[in-house]
Amino acid sequence: MINGIQGTMGIDDSGLMGVTGVPGNYLNELREIKFLLLEGKYKAISAYKIPDDFWNWLQCPNCGLRPLIWEFNNGSSTACGCGENEYKNFSIYAESIMSYVTRNNGSAMGYNHKKLRENWNHWVLTLEELETHESLREQGKW
Ligand SMILES: [Zn+2]
Repeated sequence: MINGIQGTMGIDDSGLMGVTGVPGNYLNELREIKFLLLEGKYKAISAYKIPDDFWNWLQCPNCGLRPLIWEFNNGSSTACGCGENEYKNFSIYAESIMSYVTRNNGSAMGYNHKKLRENWNHWVLTLEELETHESLREQGKW
C-alpha cells in the first residue's frame, strides 16, 4: 500500500520536476495555476507566462487569480481572468526594457525589472494604475 501511495505521488509531482526556486509550500499552487490555465480561466494568449516568483504577485481583486506576465524586449504587461477574451484582456503595464534602452542611449542600467510587479501589486492594493497604457505612450514609453 505504501509503495502504491508513493507511486501515485510520484506521478502527481512529475509535472513539477525540474522546477527550481519554487518554495515547497507553493508547489500545490503552481499546479493549481497550471490547471486553471488549461481550463481557460486566464484571458491571455500563450505568450503570457507564469512569473518565476508567482507567489510574490498578489491575487487580482476581481477574478482572484495571480497574473500571468508577458515580459519581452518589446512589451511588459499582465493578464489575469479579467477581460472579454484572450485578445481583449485587462492588463497592468510597465515600460519594456527595449523602450528603456532606446531612451537611455543604449544602456539598460537602471532599468527596474520589478516595475511590472510593483505596478500590479500597487493596483491590487489601491486600484490605482501607476502607469497606464496611455500614460506610458504619452511619455514615449512602450
Ligand atoms: Zn483579474
